[in-house]
Amino acid sequence: MKAFLRFWMLLLFPGLLQAQLSTEFNWKLASDKDREAAFAFAEEYKAFLARAKTELFTVKEMVKLAGKRGFRPLKNNSPWRPGAKYYDINRDRTICLIVVGKNSLKSGVRLIGGHIDSPRLELKARPLYQRYGFALFQTLYHGGIKKYQWSNLPLALMGRIDKTDGTTVWVELGNQPGDPVLIVPDLAPHVDRPYRSRSQRDVLKGEELDPIVGSIPDSKGSVEKQIMQLLEKRYGIRRADFISAELALVPALAPRDVGFDRGLVAAYGQDDRLCSYIAARASMAVEHPPYTTISFLVDNEESGSNNNTGANSDYLRGLMGRLLQLEMGNRANELHLREVLANTLVLSADVTTGIHPMFPGVQEPSNAARLGYGVVIKRYGRGNDPNSEFTARFRRILEENRIPYQSHTYKVDVGGGGTIGNFLSRENMEVLDCGIPLLSMHSPYSISSKIDMWSLYRAFQAFYRQ
Ligand code: MN
Ligand code: MN
Repeated sequence: MKAFLRFWMLLLFPGLLQAQLSTEFNWKLASDKDREAAFAFAEEYKAFLARAKTELFTVKEMVKLAGKRGFRPLKNNSPWRPGAKYYDINRDRTICLIVVGKNSLKSGVRLIGGHIDSPRLELKARPLYQRYGFALFQTLYHGGIKKYQWSNLPLALMGRIDKTDGTTVWVELGNQPGDPVLIVPDLAPHVDRPYRSRSQRDVLKGEELDPIVGSIPDSKGSVEKQIMQLLEKRYGIRRADFISAELALVPALAPRDVGFDRGLVAAYGQDDRLCSYIAARASMAVEHPPYTTISFLVDNEESGSNNNTGANSDYLRGLMGRLLQLEMGNRANELHLREVLANTLVLSADVTTGIHPMFPGVQEPSNAARLGYGVVIKRYGRGNDPNSEFTARFRRILEENRIPYQSHTYKVDVGGGGTIGNFLSRENMEVLDCGIPLLSMHSPYSISSKIDMWSLYRAFQAFYRQ
């Protein structure tokens, strides 16, 4: 009966059943099947985020996931045939998932770019010191953080230490239930009177974000030396090895459902491992795409996309060149590469801020994004917007697939943000910024909507399939 009705409705009012700009809850528009699928998808997402807490560990987890789905490392003699699946890793910190399309590369690539680094604390090059009976780590921060949010929070230490003998020691401490954690302590309300007039941004200052890492002294009374000895034993490192280490302090929290109805997910690192994970999953879901697809998951966005693993590096262009050579052999030249780039369509995928129920005034509500209202087309202005014809093309994909969507423009002179789109559009590709909204973005524990996540997954698949 339902199918019969839909048939007549479509015949009489073709526009009626299409998704429109969402003024309705995404949950209300979703079928029972979609709801079920959204909940199941969120379980897999949470399991991934629980492990993938830094770019290094995200790449490791992606390799495992992609390997299971038939992706193989890209080599200089990899066969180029439609449907072939490859991954390519740039220096352990950036990963691309590639699915070869039916059309030639010169007709363009469908690329989704996301970033896999998130705001966090990092260790300085000479981190260990002692003060008032505690061993502590000196830290600095990566990305825009509200510093007070990082105190009284169980922190895990994750990363790598590279030694002069060429070996790498991997560090992961604090994520397992029995592990110790590191903590930046706060002042008790009994004694904080001299600090109460500090502004919100300075509740804790940058140099006050040092976690406690030890408290038991050696026979001569040095806690610091005792800890260094412990680290030597456990990891086989010397003090100087910290100079060639990348160690991050991240929340030792596992992702959890939020609310009696479990409609939301709270987790560390959803900016932007949410879009990155979903892009990767879309790569894995799309078999035999018409155009070659690339999920480009990149490091260092939160600090300005610098160095050779950030979006501002030449790596992606080099990768496209390598792909072109696999397809064309040595006939491939710079002009061909420029043709590939000019015909390439890019979704620069990143989360954005949703309307906060207690502080709606920081947004301009008629143009703000809302959790549970679908995929966000970002229209941030200031010369960053895609051309309107490309935006129309993306809207058509969403509407044809009945994917609810909304737009987001920040309140003028109040909000703002940018991501990797500008680096990609510099290569003369068409770039559109999209994503879904979060609450508590850049905090140790941000919040997303399961149904938006599902809509984004459907949108990315539709983009890769068209
Ligand atoms: Mn981001
Ligand atoms: Mn961010």
